[in-house]
This record gives sequence, structure tokens and C-alpha cells, in this order.
Amino acid sequence: MSSERVVVVGGGIGGLCACLELTQLGFDVTLLEKEQAIGGKIRQVAVGASDDIGLVDSGPTVFTMRWVFEQLFEACGESFSAHVQTDPLTILARHTWGEQYLDLFADRQQSADAIAAFSSPAEAKAFLEFCAMAKKVYEVLEKPFIQSARPSMAGMMGSLGIMQSMPLMAIGPFSDLWTSLGKYFKDPRLHQLFGRYATYCGSSPYLAPATLMLIAQVEMDGVWSVRGGMAEIPKAIGRLAESKGARIRTNASVQAIHQEHYRITSIELADGEHIPADYVVFNGDINALRQGLLGESLRSAISNRIPTSRSLSALTWSMKVKTSGFPLVRHNVFFNRDYASEFSAIFQHKAYPNHPTVYVCAQDRSDSGAALEQEERLLCLVNAPAIGDHEINQKEIDRCEQTAFTLLKQCGLELQEASHSTIRTSPTEFNRLFPGRGGALYGQATHGWMSSFQRSNALTQIENLFLVGGSVHPGPGVPMAALSGRQAVAALMARRNSIKR
Ligand SMILES: Cc1cc2nc3c(=O)[nH]c(=O)nc-3n(C[C@H](O)[C@H](O)[C@H](O)COP(=O)(O)OP(=O)(O)OC[C@H]3O[C@@H](n4cnc5c(N)ncnc54)[C@H](O)[C@@H]3O)c2cc1C
Repeated sequence: MSSERVVVVGGGIGGLCACLELTQLGFDVTLLEKEQAIGGKIRQVAVGASDDIGLVDSGPTVFTMRWVFEQLFEACGESFSAHVQTDPLTILARHTWGEQYLDLFADRQQSADAIAAFSSPAEAKAFLEFCAMAKKVYEVLEKPFIQSARPSMAGMMGSLGIMQSMPLMAIGPFSDLWTSLGKYFKDPRLHQLFGRYATYCGSSPYLAPATLMLIAQVEMDGVWSVRGGMAEIPKAIGRLAESKGARIRTNASVQAIHQEHYRITSIELADGEHIPADYVVFNGDINALRQGLLGESLRSAISNRIPTSRSLSALTWSMKVKTSGFPLVRHNVFFNRDYASEFSAIFQHKAYPNHPTVYVCAQDRSDSGAALEQEERLLCLVNAPAIGDHEINQKEIDRCEQTAFTLLKQCGLELQEASHSTIRTSPTEFNRLFPGRGGALYGQATHGWMSSFQRSNALTQIENLFLVGGSVHPGPGVPMAALSGRQAVAALMARRNSIKR
């Protein structure tokens, strides 16, 4: 098989997983990444003075579904834990609305006890009922949806049968997440907390389908911190792929993918170099193909039935600061009170929210919450509209920044910032890094009950071009994009075998 050449365009997690597995299968694989480092959205930003630079994890920070990586490494004859060291968190996240805070724990009963004390015993009971339902929804959807390469609503319901699809009927398959959560939680703070899970796939809780409650289950199944930061995951996959013979080239921007008679023949780099290819796996946003960013002839590679809608973008601040006041743990959420206005600003008005919710990852902290004497690395993030391809509105961004940091202060978190120690990233920069969707970070928005079934799968209209990544089924998130990599490999193998027959 070694004479068959695969070019993977993009070194995000989906591309890397495909690269590793295809190399393991014996293909001659070259991965081309336009940036200096592989990892894509799993990226680190250098912050601080030149004599004291810190690398701040400035993309994903919540690592879940570790089994996806365990299975990938196993398929390559390796053990994930031998390559990447992870520690389970006991506190999943700390949430505050200004006065006290509420922790959610890996241990469900501990979370219920915390909710009883923070809110009421009735809400704790509702939480346990919610957990039971989220677990059922996850279990029902894991195989026929998440792990299936080409799920359809009809096919999925058919394979589940009446008994197994009961949990989906019970939550109301056409219901939105917000309405569904309202059946469990009367305390608006808990309603908001569990609604926030929709943002994990870049969506509004008011528009996302109720089935997204399965994300709560994913988190309750385990959140890990990665020693050395999230970037260790792509690095480990890249190293392993190279050790098996893959070529990984960074600073290699693909300018065009050439085809003849509906077959890709070669890749052209920005410097004019041509690389012949028998198969291409594309790891950028699929909208980049539709916009002709990789060549006019690829505009029609993706079916026009697939929605082009934009998920959330973000405004982030990567910083090294001394903190005091609020007792940070690793993952912290500072909620605004008017959640609906945040999402109507972003999705209806394409504007920065007036009162954003702020997520803070204190990556030097364990979950004991022990205070740090020295400066620590923080990633602060607010949701933002995916308008990175519009003219930049500096004033709006400054205003959003001010309200975000005022909220942190009101909640008791003091940040003593050293000079030159904060790097702000806006949708404009995200659009440059991940072209095709205005800086949307999670592909299309998961809005409406059919949206999950409307994502592209790995196949395109071109026989030897395959898709991976967060804009492809099963959707965004580190483990999901990794799964898409594995599904693309399966699709490539199936096509190859059918052509060769
Ligand atoms: C701020 C932020 C926070 C997040 N938080 C979480 C979280 O806590 N947990 C979680 O699970 N997920 C989180 N996510 C989502 C998760 O990071 C992504 O869904 C996932 O990493 C996407 O992987 P991907 O395979 O789609 O590739 P991407 O990460 O999108 O990478 C694509 C790569 O392709 C490269 N590329 C594109 N075009 C070209 C070209 N023409 N030539 C060469 N290279 C090209 C790009 O440079 C990039 O490196 C977060 C994302 C962001 C941005």
C-alpha cells in the first residue's frame, strides 16, 4: 500500500488523527500545516516579557471522552497514557453569579449535595433526575449517532426501535435545550448553568436541540487536565505518526487542490510547490472549500444542502497575572444574569454581548483551589459573533472587554496585570487562523432539531477528497473532531476498496 500517497491538509486534531491512522495502515502520508505548529485550535500563545515567557493554552481546555484517544492509540499498537499524561479533575468547574459559588464535581452525589446547599433540596433532586436523563440520551445516541459515519434521523430511529428511543421521546425530540431544561430546574442559575453546555458546540441554548443535554453527561463521565497543556495531545499524535513514517510539514500553506475529471491529482503550496496525491484529507472548515479558497473548481465539492450557518466565535485573553480575591479552580464560569440577551446579541444582531458570561481557565491550578503566590497563566473567554470577515469594530471589542473584566471584578476576582502580559484574540484573528466561516470556531451552529443530521460526513462529491474536523460529523470538540478523523479513514478505505474491486 506504501505507494499510495495521501496528503492531509491541516494539522488540527482531526487531520492528525487521520494522518496517524493512515500511516499505520501503510499509506505514504504527508501532512501540510500552514502555521508554525500543529494542533490547530489546540494552540498555545506566548505571553510575558522576553525573559519570562509563558505558553498559555488558548484553545480548548476541557479534555473529555479520553476513550476516543485510547482507542486510536490502541489501533496503532500503542497506549495513550504512555504518550500523554492526564489527571482526572474532582471539581469539574466553579460557577458564580456574584455572591457565592457553586461547584460541580465528578462525583454526582457531591454535586447534588452542593446544589442542595447552594439552591434547594428540590433542585438537587431535579439535578439527579436531569443526570439520569442526560445519561440515557448519551447512551442512546453514542453508537447510532456519534459513532456512526452517516447518521440520518430516520435510520437512527429505525435502528433504535421504539423501546430504545423512549428517552428521546421523553425529552421531546423537537424541543430546544432551554425549554427542556426548564422542566427540571426552577432556579434560574441552574437553568443557565446547564444551558451553557450548548456553547460547547458553539450554539445558543435557546436554539440548540434538547439532545445536547448529552454534553452534560460527557463532562460528568470525566474531565482531565493534561500535563504540559492540551498541546501535548497533538504533539504526541504528530510524533507517533512521524515515527511510523508520516511527513509533517509546518509553515506549509496549501493554496490550491487541483483536480482533473472529478479526481484530485495534486496539492499546490503558496510557494508554488506541487505535491502529487492519490487521496486528500481536508481538515480546514468545509466552508473554505465552498468559498473557493482552495480553488474555484472545489466550490461544488460539498453538497449545497449542507447549511453554511455560523457557530460562536470568541474573544479571548491569554495572560500571565497575579490574582487575588475569588478562589479560582482550574475551570471557572462567571455568569451574567441576562443570558438570553447574550445569545440574541450574538446570533440575531451579530454584535458583541453587552453583558457577556466569562469563562476563566486557571491552568496552573489543580482543583484544590490553592492560591498561587506568583503570576499565573489564565485564559479568559467570552462568546462572540463570527464576524471576523467583517470590518473590525475596535470600539465594540473594547467595550465588551471592559464589561467582561468588570464582571470578574464584581465577582471578587482581582487581576494585577503586568505590562505586555496579555494577548487578545478576536474573531478577526480566528478567521485568519481558521479561514472560511468568519472566525466561527465550531463549524455550523447546532440550531434546530435537524441540524445535527445536516452536517457533512467525510465524503465529498469528489471521489478521492475526504473531510475531517469540527465542521464535519460528528461535530466540534476535540474528541469529536478526532472521531471524524477516524471516520474519514474508514470512508477512504471503503472507497479505495470499492474502486479497486
Ligand atoms: C477558544 C476555544 C476553546 C475551545 N474549547 C474547547 C474545549 O474546552 N473542549 C473541547 O473539546 N473543544 C473545545 N474547542 C473546540 C476544539 O478545539 C475544536 O473543535 C477542535 O480542536 C477542532 O479540530 P479540527 O480537527 O477541526 O481542526 P482545527 O483545529 O480547526 O485545525 C485546522 C487546521 O488546518 C489548518 N489549515 C487550514 N487551511 C489550511 C491550508 N490551506 N493549508 C494548510 N493548513 C491549513 C489550520 O491552520 C489549522 O491548523 C475550543 C475551541 C476554541 C477555539
